[in-house]
Amino acid sequence: DIAISLKAISKSYGGGVDAVSNLDLDIREGEFFSLLGPSGCGKTTTLRMIAGFEEPTAGRIGLGGRDVTWAPPHKRDMGLVFQNDALFPHRTVHQNVAFGLRMRRLPAAEIAARVAAALAQVQLTGFEARHPGQLSGGQQQRVALARAIVIRPRVLLCDEPLGALDRKLRASMQFELKELQRELGVTLIYVTHDQEEALTMSDRIAVMNGGRIEQVAAPDTIYNRPATRFVADFIGEATLLSGAVVRGAEGVHLALSGGLRLPLPGSMAPMAGAERTVAIRPERITFSGDGAGLPGHIVDANFLGTATLYKTRLDNGALALVRLPAASGEARPGPGDRVALSIPPDAIVPVASGPAA
Ligand code: ADP
Ligand code: MG
Repeated sequence: DIAISLKAISKSYGGGVDAVSNLDLDIREGEFFSLLGPSGCGKTTTLRMIAGFEEPTAGRIGLGGRDVTWAPPHKRDMGLVFQNDALFPHRTVHQNVAFGLRMRRLPAAEIAARVAAALAQVQLTGFEARHPGQLSGGQQQRVALARAIVIRPRVLLCDEPLGALDRKLRASMQFELKELQRELGVTLIYVTHDQEEALTMSDRIAVMNGGRIEQVAAPDTIYNRPATRFVADFIGEATLLSGAVVRGAEGVHLALSGGLRLPLPGSMAPMAGAERTVAIRPERITFSGDGAGLPGHIVDANFLGTATLYKTRLDNGALALVRLPAASGEARPGPGDRVALSIPPDAIVPVASGPAA
């Protein structure tokens, strides 16, 4: 079932700023859905329109089949968590979490029970009497989360909620938030510019760029089958090569500049005659032992702990990234060394220059 649907949503702030352009999106019931993209691409604007804090310039927003395009926030039944979410500093944890329930004038006994349950869910039982100043950053974010889920929203909207936390704490909070979302079965829309965060937590991701959606898919599809040049480049690392698709006696290949040829998967044969760009993930490329492959030399080698990332320059001047898993005792090539890049055809993904119009 579709929980939220955006139909041809646009938002311009005037003065030529199109924050969001013609967005179509269906978010499923119970799904962990991320909006991922660089700063300024329109993620917060999209979330604020879903929440009802901002009206779209054009388009429609549906919530469980109901048109809520112009409904005020309190008629949408959504919980909100933002980065550096401000708690009331002079109120206790209990009072902060109870706030939304008091506004809704629930009986005191029910408020007490629901606050206790929400605090248990974010693992803050026993912290009721503390003030925000007596909590760590991670604990404060958990209070903000408890405050959002205590009203039992149908949808939880999170805008970079872990952005202010250090790396380790962020990783454990990511895990906890994902667990909690599963437990509650709530539809969660998560805004982040952090691709790792989106890849690890989400059921599906919408990658945004310049107010548009480049691709909507599950994390493994976003990573392994990026639809556009932007997605290939923004998510992880990729080598992008362009040339004419040529069909010859030995199959189909990409004719790169400098006379280099990259054998393509048979599935690209119908593109023969066209100029195309392809993307290849660095862990899918190896240095061939017999010299067969794309010739070049190593520019730089970065040791990453579990792997080494080689920046190589092909003989036609193009850059390519190769990631080899760490192996002890093996002689590895270094900067300046000649290499030949072996790229299996099934690692080659054609990418569009931008989102389909
Ligand atoms: P993100 O959350 O992805 O960083 P935003 O949705 O905040 O992006 O912003 C998208 C674009 O809209 C940016 O160019 C931003 O400067 C612009 N923008 C956001 N809010 C306003 C506003 N209230 N008035 C004018 N421009 C805005
Ligand atoms: Mg934002």
